[in-house]
Amino acid sequence: MEHKVCKHYKKCGGCQLDMPYPQQLSYKQKIVGRLLGKYCTIEPIIGMYYPYHYRNKVQAAFGFDMRRKQIISGVYQSSSHKIVPVDSCMIEDKKADEIIVSIRKLVRDFKFLPRHILVKRGFSTNEIMVVVVTESPIFPAKHNFVKALLKLHPEITTIIHNINPYETSLVLGERENVLYGKGYIEDRLMGCMFRISARSFYQINPTQTEKLYGTALEYAGLDGSETFFDAYCGTGTIGILAAKNGAKQVIGVELNRDAVKDAIANAKRNQIGNIRFTCADATQFILDMADAKQSVDVIMMDPPRAGSTEQFLDAVAKLAPPRVVYVSCNPETLARDLGYVTKKGYRVMKIQPVDMFPHTAHIECVVQLDREKSAG
Ligand code: SAH
Repeated sequence: MEHKVCKHYKKCGGCQLDMPYPQQLSYKQKIVGRLLGKYCTIEPIIGMYYPYHYRNKVQAAFGFDMRRKQIISGVYQSSSHKIVPVDSCMIEDKKADEIIVSIRKLVRDFKFLPRHILVKRGFSTNEIMVVVVTESPIFPAKHNFVKALLKLHPEITTIIHNINPYETSLVLGERENVLYGKGYIEDRLMGCMFRISARSFYQINPTQTEKLYGTALEYAGLDGSETFFDAYCGTGTIGILAAKNGAKQVIGVELNRDAVKDAIANAKRNQIGNIRFTCADATQFILDMADAKQSVDVIMMDPPRAGSTEQFLDAVAKLAPPRVVYVSCNPETLARDLGYVTKKGYRVMKIQPVDMFPHTAHIECVVQLDREKSAG
């Protein structure tokens, strides 16, 4: 495979691995081996056939370049608020990049400056969401702007105005108004349809997500009799697939309210009845489950980069399901958490790295843990 060199590489910071793709894969394999190799042999990392333009969610920061007297869009230079102008990116969806450039040209005519533009595209449905983030709730040009944008890009299926008065690292604020369409998009994964809102988490690389979820479900080893607990469930994707593919009943927990709403709608959309979702902190929820002596056969956990908590893992040991599957987007916190649960009666059986984020240093892993027979 040819190695594409990106001209923004040094300034942008979005990618960290400026090396040919096969070398990136062996680099990641080595890191996982170093961090987790003491538990078991690491399966060979699942790479991408074409590791470009895989990101289905693209965001651009907007600003005004005083020197050139023009509006610019791109990425924040690492840990600063200086914008590096970027019009096209090797890992982002091309259509999303095109829409952002069109918007930059449009806002000049409509005399407003968004803070950010966020575009999400359902790769299998082609539905496209555009979120215009502004500092102020007042957006007088909105109707004409929407009209003009749809004229340029009739393929956009929904447009949302999000208000973010704060200059923080968070792109989206709490308030949003739907300007056009249904306010969310849908995407199909492994035979199920999933609804994605502006603020809920959805895996950003759908091709690899199928491989990730496929591995996670294979490791869960469902046979139709299990109570399956999907912790940090996001929009319910893994739990819904588990309910459809063998779990007897599924319990999902997730902290983000919008994601829970999506999860409930997703279960309905896919006619899954044996599933329920709760909006709560996963640790608090599992502690309550342990207190109630709830019986659980499989725990699927997919925490954010910070990993899980000791309290959560204590409760896992107390619930004592025969199997735990840990999906992790950070091998360092994974190593920490595995170090903890392996002292609590669990054994690491398999570790499968999946390259969800080519060209970046991020590493995703799926781990199968079984309860030791001697642990009772
Ligand atoms: N399994 C899902 C989501 C994984 S991302 C998927 O594959 O799409 C991790 C999720 O954990 C996010 O949706 C985030 O909102 C949620 N989360 C973060 N902290 C949490 C907590 N303390 N309790 C429950 N969920 C949390």
